[in-house]
Amino acid sequence: MNAFKIVTFQNPSYKKCESCERVKDIFYRCEMLDAKTQTMLCGSFDLCNICGENFADIIGQKVVKERKVGGFSFD
Ligand SMILES: [Zn+2]
Repeated sequence: MNAFKIVTFQNPSYKKCESCERVKDIFYRCEMLDAKTQTMLCGSFDLCNICGENFADIIGQKVVKERKVGGFSFD
């Protein structure tokens, strides 16, 4: 069991990443659960693409990126 849980957003929002403190597309939210029970949510922080994947690697969790292929892009 892990007290951290990475949640992937379907529609990333453009705001400040709470890890690297840069304003970027936020793809992930890390939910921090109560260490003893691992059921109650204690807090959360928003993570950009890079930080989210990095953090997922650290805690050994696979993240599924919901990138849409085709359609319009922000580039
Ligand atoms: Zn970041």
